Amino acid sequence: MTETTLPRRPSVAVDVQGVTLGGGAPVVVQSMTNTDTADVDATVAQVAELYRAGSELVRVTVNTEAAMAALPEIRARLEAQGLSVPLVGDFHFNGHRLVNKYPESVAALAKLRINPGNVGRGSKRDEQFAALIEAAVRHDKPVRIGVNWGSLDQALLARLMDENAARPEPLPTEAVMREALIRSALESAAAAEALGLPHDRIVISCKVSGVQPLIAVYRELARRCDYPLHLGLTEAGMGIKGITASSAALAVLLQEGIGDTIRISLTPEPGAPRTEEVRVAQELLQAMGLRNFTPQVVACPGCGRTTSTFFQELARDIQDYLRAQMPVWRERYPGVEKLTVAVMGCVVNGPGESKHADIGISLPGTGERPVAPVYVDGEKTVTLKGEGIAKEFQAIVEDYVARRFGTS
Ligand code: SF4
Repeated sequence: MTETTLPRRPSVAVDVQGVTLGGGAPVVVQSMTNTDTADVDATVAQVAELYRAGSELVRVTVNTEAAMAALPEIRARLEAQGLSVPLVGDFHFNGHRLVNKYPESVAALAKLRINPGNVGRGSKRDEQFAALIEAAVRHDKPVRIGVNWGSLDQALLARLMDENAARPEPLPTEAVMREALIRSALESAAAAEALGLPHDRIVISCKVSGVQPLIAVYRELARRCDYPLHLGLTEAGMGIKGITASSAALAVLLQEGIGDTIRISLTPEPGAPRTEEVRVAQELLQAMGLRNFTPQVVACPGCGRTTSTFFQELARDIQDYLRAQMPVWRERYPGVEKLTVAVMGCVVNGPGESKHADIGISLPGTGERPVAPVYVDGEKTVTLKGEGIAKEFQAIVEDYVARRFGTS
């Protein structure tokens, strides 16, 4: 699939251990572990799994001394496997103490995420925020100022509510909430800069769990700053609901050039792989034509003309096969991620759609002759029939990939 060049909101570029956020760089996919970070074996395994699935940054929670103390060992074990995945440490409540007590753990991170709503209350707040920022400055680490409406700075919200109440025509409460999120991020970023964190070491996020509020907040944030923006619908939920809501919100913003890095905050179904969120992020960016990650299978939905499950099985098997090859193909066949394969259910749209794809197969619908013409680069090349259609088609795809994308 050809990548689309959408106008992007201008932003400064922030380097995170070799991964660039903003400055016109491709939108970066990130994810977060759900292991106990103090459990080094489990965390290393999940970070590796997420990184291999395509997560370009992986965030880990750093909630206890044991979690903080584990970071250098986690970093070392990943390096030993040749995985140079940038790790982001997620700090809340006690981060100021941890960064001062465990400098080698700060060094093991590529970036710190600080939630200004959770750095301390009252007179302690500024001091604790400063401790985190000063640690980032000392170690030359970028920081994401990550505001979340579930942990919004209550003092700031109360101040804005009071100001609003004193207006001749007060704004609706939601508008004040949105402004509080944005102010919390921007005032914290300004405070971080005043403490010595360079402008190009700051990324911002303001996550909410509703689609329309998220779009409104980010549009405004994009207008008011040039920091790279991390997008995500927080607490998106499970399965289809979470995927749909995240995609709806992020697609609108990405289409407007807003967003330099994304995370899909899915609640995994019990037993489902954590990598699902990475896959959804990639599929979203690829569906929008912003990046290519894996060959795409175009398949029709099927209808009354496809009365057997053969066509669905072939579409699924080819899709799984293509995805499974990618760790090897990515190296061996540069550009293969742009490949499109069509698997169509009958003669109505089958030949036409197959001709548009790099390779396509039009399977016989109910009542049609049991033959499946195959199209390569828009030309009909061969007609498959009998029991071995799936295997033969896979062999044709393999052969095409080697011919077209092989370098030797
Ligand atoms: S291509 Fe054929 S089988 Fe597929 S949805 Fe269209 S009419 Fe139905």
